[in-house]
Order: sequence, then C-alpha cells, then structure tokens
Amino acid sequence: MKYVLGAKCVKCGREYTLTPNTTTCSCGGILDVQYDYAAIRRDFSPADLGRSRDWSMWRYRPFLPVEETSAPTPLRVGWSPLYKADRLAKELGLKTLYVKDDGQNPTASLKDRASAMAVVKAREAGADTIACSSTGNAASSLAGNAAAAGFQTYIFVPARAPKGKVAQLRIFGATVISVDGSYEDTFELSKAAIEKWGWYNRNAAINPYLSEGKKTVSLEIAEQLGWQMPDYVALSVGDGCTIAGVWKGFQDLYAAGFIDRLPRLISVQAEGCCPLNRAIQTGRPWTPMEENTLADSIAVGVPRNPDKALNAIRSSNGVVVNVSDEEILAAMRLLGRTQGVFGEPAGVTGTAGVKKALELGLISPDSTVVSIVTGNGLKDVANGIKAAGEPMLVKPDMDALLAAFAQRRITP
Ligand SMILES: *Cc1c(COP(=O)(O)O)cnc(C)c1O
Ligand SMILES: [Zn+2]
Repeated sequence: MKYVLGAKCVKCGREYTLTPNTTTCSCGGILDVQYDYAAIRRDFSPADLGRSRDWSMWRYRPFLPVEETSAPTPLRVGWSPLYKADRLAKELGLKTLYVKDDGQNPTASLKDRASAMAVVKAREAGADTIACSSTGNAASSLAGNAAAAGFQTYIFVPARAPKGKVAQLRIFGATVISVDGSYEDTFELSKAAIEKWGWYNRNAAINPYLSEGKKTVSLEIAEQLGWQMPDYVALSVGDGCTIAGVWKGFQDLYAAGFIDRLPRLISVQAEGCCPLNRAIQTGRPWTPMEENTLADSIAVGVPRNPDKALNAIRSSNGVVVNVSDEEILAAMRLLGRTQGVFGEPAGVTGTAGVKKALELGLISPDSTVVSIVTGNGLKDVANGIKAAGEPMLVKPDMDALLAAFAQRRITP
C-alpha cells in the first residue's frame, strides 16, 4: 500500500495505521483512509490511465488501499457505461445529462465495488468467511464476489428484501439469515454474530475499505468525462456510505491534481425515509425515521454512516431533495422509456431527484448533471410491474389483437 498513509477518525481525528482488519475508532467514529497525494501525482497520471487495459475498478490501484501483491477479484467489477442521455435530458428540460449505469456490475449494483474490495481485504487478513447485514445489494454483491474468490459467507437480510436479491444470495451459496425485523434489527443481529464467530466484517460503515471501493465510481465518471467535471452528481442515499465514497473519489482526484474542480452532490432520499436530508434541511442533528418507502435499498431509518455522508453533502455545497414513491416509480418508467436503462427503485431515485430538483428550482436547467443508477431493476421485478403495469393479454388470433389495440387506442 505504497500510497496509503493511514486512517483518520472522522469524529475525533485520531490517526491509525491500517491493517486488513481495521474497523472503527475507539470513540466509535468511522475511519477515512489517507493517501500521499503528492506521491500519487509524482508516479501516476491521467495519461497512464489512458494506456491501461484493465477495464475494471482495479485500474485505479494507486488510489486504492490494497497491497501491491494482492490479486484483483475474479469478477469484473466497475467500468460501467456512462451514457449521454440526451432524450432524457430533453424531457427533463436539462442541458446535459449523463447516466452512469452501475446496475451493469456483475451482481447488478454499485455495491459490487465495495464487496470486491472487502474480498481482497479479507484475503489479506487471512480470513475464510465473510459476513454482513444488508438491505439486499451489499449482501448479494458480497455473496457473488466471495463465491468467485472461494470464501464462505453469512448474510443477514431483513425479511422484506426483494425476491431477486434473495435468489442471488441462495444461488451464490451464501448462508442466508432472513431476519423478521427492520434493517436496524438485522444489523444488530449480524453484529452480535460477527463478534461471536469472528468472521471478516463487511458491514457498511464499520469497514473503512468499503467506501474506498465505492469511490471508484467517481474515478470512472471523471475519466469517462475526460477529466472535465460536471456541475452535479446525483445519487440515492441510505446509510450514506455510497455518497461518502463518491465524494472521497472526487476529493482524491482533486488532491492528486487529476481534476481542477469538484462537482456538487445531489443527495436524494425517499420522503418516507430521509433522516440525512432532513438533518441538512433543518440544520439539526439527524434523528431516526421510519423505513417508509418501496425503495428497499435506501429504506434506512438509522443510517450507519451519517457523519461522512453529511460531511460529503455539506462540503460539496450539495443539494438535498426528497422524492415520493410515486416519483420513484415514474423515474423507473422514464429511464426505461428514454434510455433503455432498467433501475431498481433505489437505483433510479437519483434520477427522480434530478427531475424534482429542476422542478423546485434547486438546480439550473443549464447544468451538466451525472445521475448514478445504483442498482438494476431485474432485482425487483415486482416494483417494475408496479411502475409500468401488466401487459395486455390477448387470445392468439388477429381479431383479438385488433380489438385489444382498439380498446387501448393503439394505432400501429
Ligand atoms: C446501498 C444502495 C444505495 C445507498 O447506498 P448507502 O451507502 O446505503 O447510502 C442506493 N442504491 C442502491 C441500489 C443500493 O444498493
Ligand atoms: Zn475517533
């Protein structure tokens, strides 16, 4: 880890030497990995990246806290497409919009970036078993990436997790504990079990390496845009690890001289569960909320990474916006219809937030925005059908088809 200096607590500032098993500060604060940016800058440039043929998150190794001798993980994680979404931009009345489709990762969510990192660190730690609790995607990404690398997994998910994600867990051979309770209950049970059995801990916000994996989405966005920063980057927020990672990625690039300005973040939460955005809006400390949204991946009433997330939003001079479940379902249809991208509810919540922020006048129509789609809609087909409806059902003959078209005013 040539360029890693150590880690620093975001709460009390205490500094630590990193080991693969490092978790949180003794004060309970979350650690942030520190780099020698001058050395990165000296040894490594955008032009070097331009020559790289590693089309995965591991192309950014100088910016990642892994040993030089550590092999990358077997599944191809990262280097997801960044689409210029002109049709969608036009519908939204926005000058320039890009969609970063992270649902194209191997287990179909951005969480693969964190889980691939967890697998490398577990290997460095000499562990053979990895555990986590999750609203669903951290779980399925860990199960998949761990399976490919030969690890056992114990996974705790709330019983409400969508079937697609549970199916992934079962197929990837995880031991799945479906907890009859909230995400908060699920997290606490996993914590007790991890303490009891000493498994490698991939719990969000406990393990400082995970957001370092997630930040690769920002490194990619920057590189894919030719190092020209957009005005805004929009994404959905639950625990807050993703937005913290996204911000860390841009800060790293800025500190290493790869980019010359930082984008502002658009933090999007569900109206029925927005403890972090509410804290920003009211200027008061965050307090728990009910987990009242169909966007299961961001139904997080007690966020695990509030300090880093709030800091990311504030220091980016960010925008916060909350969207209703109806607006989330509408964004699923909109992204699908205009861009051919099928996101799960939390996956499209960022895009729903861009639309709402424009409507509310929080961002200017002249802006350039990147909207990150964080998870694939095939994980949750029930909500896909809820968003777009069932198709027409016809008898196999032409008269029936004509009648069905006439009834729906379809004129081919
Ligand atoms: C986990 C997740 C998020 C939110 O990430 P946090 O780190 O919990 O804020 C958003 N969208 C999807 C699809 C996710 O799986
Ligand atoms: Zn501390």
